[in-house]
Amino acid sequence: MNAPLKQHLIDPEICIRCYTCEEACPIDAITHNEDNVVVDAAKCDFCMACISPCPTGSIDAWRVVMQPYSLEEQMSWMELPEQEEIAKPDGTGPAEGGDVEALEDSVERLLAEAHAGAGGKARAPATASKPSINLYNLKKPAVGIVQGNYRLTSESADSDVRHIIIDLGNQHFPVLEGQSVGIQPPGTDASGNAYLPRLYSISSPRDGERPNTNNISLTVKREEQGVCSNYVCDLQKGDEVRLTGPFGATFLMPNDPQAQIVMICTGTGSAPFRAFTMRRQRLTADGGERMRLFFGARTSDALPYFGPLKKVPDTILEKHLVFSRAEAVEKEYVQDRMLKQRADLAGLLSAPHTHIYVCGLKAMEHGVEAAFEQIAKDIGTDWVSLRDQMRESGRYHVETY
Ligand SMILES: Cc1cc2nc3c(=O)[nH]c(=O)nc-3n(C[C@H](O)[C@H](O)[C@H](O)COP(=O)(O)OP(=O)(O)OC[C@H]3O[C@@H](n4cnc5c(N)ncnc54)[C@H](O)[C@@H]3O)c2cc1C
Ligand code: SF4
Ligand code: SF4
Repeated sequence: MNAPLKQHLIDPEICIRCYTCEEACPIDAITHNEDNVVVDAAKCDFCMACISPCPTGSIDAWRVVMQPYSLEEQMSWMELPEQEEIAKPDGTGPAEGGDVEALEDSVERLLAEAHAGAGGKARAPATASKPSINLYNLKKPAVGIVQGNYRLTSESADSDVRHIIIDLGNQHFPVLEGQSVGIQPPGTDASGNAYLPRLYSISSPRDGERPNTNNISLTVKREEQGVCSNYVCDLQKGDEVRLTGPFGATFLMPNDPQAQIVMICTGTGSAPFRAFTMRRQRLTADGGERMRLFFGARTSDALPYFGPLKKVPDTILEKHLVFSRAEAVEKEYVQDRMLKQRADLAGLLSAPHTHIYVCGLKAMEHGVEAAFEQIAKDIGTDWVSLRDQMRESGRYHVETY
């Protein structure tokens, strides 16, 4: 049996037949008839040169297939076919389908690992905006200019977490809250090979640090001996940085101000939640339903965005900032606070519009799962089946690393 293939397609319902992509393709993989513009699966090498010039985004369509759609089939389409459920080549279950997260194998592996804690295939919320992915790759990265690099943790804290703002100039780099970018550190590893890219969650909302600015921010923790985190944390204002992506098609926000959003994180896991909160604040005057944030750190000095978070009104964001090493306060982890809030969380687990997001270090998964197990018992249900059901409907998301 053949391996599944990601096929590059064009959405005929949105395409305006301007043929810009056809001109941009360096290897003539794009052609058209009087009805449709189509991509030849036998030729396309995923160079992405056609993606950013397309004025409609219709060129950024993908399906995982066992047998590529032929040119004739594509030319006859009025709309794109649904993503089919396909079996893995070894017959062990469904292969990754509709929510393709990334085309680069190394990035896809990282994302699959990061989402593994959800217990199955990740799905986007039903109302999430459609993300763009893979617009820039290692062969053709976007080039950003560092606008600022600020330390978020106090000088006395033992962790150095930074807020880095990157200006994208006039490049087309559309992002959604919850997506990540790839950064390839310069230089080579011990065997002389270029380093593999690392992923960083975008911590700004889709319309930029301030509304209508074409920039993104990242929240990066310096790892002792870490190759990429030290490179990023040392970037200076005016430096160039090469970005790939954007990546991620499932860890996204529902486009529904009435959705109940529960966010659980430690450390740099707060990055996507800063973006979620800013998006909600900008979108709805009254913030829609109140979001809940459970955020753990050793001390308040080591908690990124501590000051700005305190200023977000409680009507928009209910904050549970917990510290495991603070002086004169009882030691507390996120799961401890979740259990203190069990009545509220039990109510949320029973509600059909609740979306749960867990982000941060892998080590946090176990405690969070155990807390949910207990809370689910309060409503007479089994956590694993409830979690699986929520995940299947795009309402339970884990991104841990
Ligand atoms: C989906 C996703 C989103 C992410 N988002 C973020 C984010 O928003 N912010 C963030 O900071 N990170 C994020 N990460 C993690 C990030 O991608 C990197 O893994 C992280 O920055 C470490 O990369 P590095 O190159 O600095 O470390 P690497 O060089 O890859 O090293 C990995 C680890 O090994 C240790 N190490 C390396 N060399 C040695 C040595 N010789 N001896 C002992 N130890 C050693 C390092 O200290 C480090 O902890 C994310 C990861 C994923 C998958
Ligand atoms: S990705 Fe590259 S090869 Fe494929 S259609 Fe676009 S421009 Fe052509
Ligand atoms: S550039 Fe985009 S809109 Fe224009 S023909 Fe190609 S796919 Fe269609």
